[in-house]
Amino acid sequence: LPKRDRKKSPYERIVNKIGKEIEIPNHWEKIGDTVILQEFKDWKKYGYEVGKAFAEVLKAKTVVIYHGTYGEFREPRITKIFGESTETIHIENGIKYKLDIAKIMFSSGNVDERIRMGKIDARDEIIVDLFAGIGYFTLPLAKSGRAKKIYACEKNPIAYRYLLENIELNQLENIIPLFGDNRNISPLKIADRVIMGYIHTEPFLGIGFKALKKEGGIIHYHNTITTEERDWKMENELKFYGEKYGFKISIISKRVVKSYAPHIWHVVIDARATPK
Ligand code: SAM
Repeated sequence: LPKRDRKKSPYERIVNKIGKEIEIPNHWEKIGDTVILQEFKDWKKYGYEVGKAFAEVLKAKTVVIYHGTYGEFREPRITKIFGESTETIHIENGIKYKLDIAKIMFSSGNVDERIRMGKIDARDEIIVDLFAGIGYFTLPLAKSGRAKKIYACEKNPIAYRYLLENIELNQLENIIPLFGDNRNISPLKIADRVIMGYIHTEPFLGIGFKALKKEGGIIHYHNTITTEERDWKMENELKFYGEKYGFKISIISKRVVKSYAPHIWHVVIDARATPK
């Protein structure tokens, strides 16, 4: 860096580089070599200039504007303002996640949960990940958690393709990828642990309990709930479906993964299911 720039924050250097009065975001996400910005005033007019400055200062290849994540496959809507490819490899905790930022979500808000999954000692466990995506939780459980075997279900063909690539990239041999709707393809009565990393998850609790082995196990039940629902809704859902499939539920822990929207929370409950 030139001497005069050494004490400046990246944000100040980006502002300097642009050199004119444009309102730009003062925070960003970097996934692999791609920078993700929220919409800002005049992004349509000055997108390229701003994108170029961000790319140079943050040493990124591509800069995109993020407009939200939509639908069953949780697909992002983005506009590329600088650079060519939106495919990138993000490395987090020694795990490589390859993905196309334009087609696949990667939630930086879920980082703690990815780390937490990697800390589970899963050496003796058969795991079913019902919403594997590109391997968000499957890869840390397989690599750092050294799971005996993980069945990773994914319905979106693009995410599934990256899941296959990520298994190769991370040289993992304990993952069995399964393509299709988890309600049709999940193995049954087999799991010590079931991962349910989705945001409208209640309709899938039945398949979650069916995947558990008859001696029971642990379910990581994610869902999105309102502030009023925070103390009871997911607990009730777990108990209701647990009962239906012959399990008693005890709550091990509960944490907010992230704020999802105003007054809406992404929460995960770890629950132990034991046969009744
Ligand atoms: N837990 C992830 C994280 O940390 O960012 C997010 C996973 S993403 C929200 C959920 C994934 O589940 C998507 O890749 C979506 O395509 C997949 N999916 C949704 N419904 C499904 C179903 N019925 N069967 C299998 N996969 C499904």
